[in-house]
Parts: sequence; C-alpha cells; structure tokens
Amino acid sequence: MNDCLFCRIIKGEIPSVKVFENDDVLAFKDINPQAPFHAVVIPKQHITGAAAITAENSAAVAKVFEAIAEIAAAENLSDGFRVVTNCGEAAGQTVPHLHFHLWARRDLGWPPG
Ligand code: AMP
Ligand code: ZN
Repeated sequence: MNDCLFCRIIKGEIPSVKVFENDDVLAFKDINPQAPFHAVVIPKQHITGAAAITAENSAAVAKVFEAIAEIAAAENLSDGFRVVTNCGEAAGQTVPHLHFHLWARRDLGWPPG
C-alpha cells in the first residue's frame, strides 16, 4: 500500500523511533504519546483494521501479541499495561492499518472514554 502511513514507516520512508522489530511486527513510539510509555504495534502485513481480520490473516494478530509480551518484558512493564485498538471513525481510528496502542507507566483509568 503505497499511500499507507504505517506501510511507509515499515519501509523506512517515514522515520520512526523503533521499539521492536522482527519479520512480522514493528513497534515504534507514538508521535503524540498518551502515556509515559506509548508504542504503536503493527503487523507488517497491511490489514485495514480489526474489522478486516479473517481466518486467513489472523496469524498476524497473534504475532503482534507475541511481540507485545516481548516488549513488556524488555521494557519492564511489570506494573501493568494496556493494549487498545480503535476500529472505524467513531472509535477514533485515524490510520487505516491495523495497529495496537501499548500504554504503560501511568495509572490507566477504567472505563476508558
Ligand atoms: P489511531 O488514532 O487509533 O488510528 O492511532 C494512530 C496513532 O498513530 C495516533 O496515536 C498517532 O499519534 C500515531 N501516529 C500518526 N503518525 C505517526 C508517526 N509518523 N509516527 C508515530 N506515530 C504516529
Ligand atoms: Zn499499511
């Protein structure tokens, strides 16, 4: 996807501060952090969002959550963390490439807004 912001970050066409990378997953610091630790964790496969997950592409989601566990261990997020995905305009999705916000290092209220 030539015009997808996160595909361009994966390709290195747009700079990012990488937190984690392997063959399937990239995580980078959010440019507008909502917590002291705020990473965006994405599959390298272009999937438009949570509503587009299918039996054919869901392995990419498992890879994302394996990466999140690795990041949590490497960053010592043992106090707790939150993983959020926004799907669709009303939920606040602004980038149509499946991504998971990983927030930590502050108290995270519940329920969220
Ligand atoms: P969402 O609003 O759930 O679609 O999340 C998209 C996230 O991507 C937002 O939190 C943005 O701050 C973040 N974002 C947008 N552009 C960049 C960028 N170039 N580098 C890092 N994060 C970005
Ligand atoms: Zn993409």
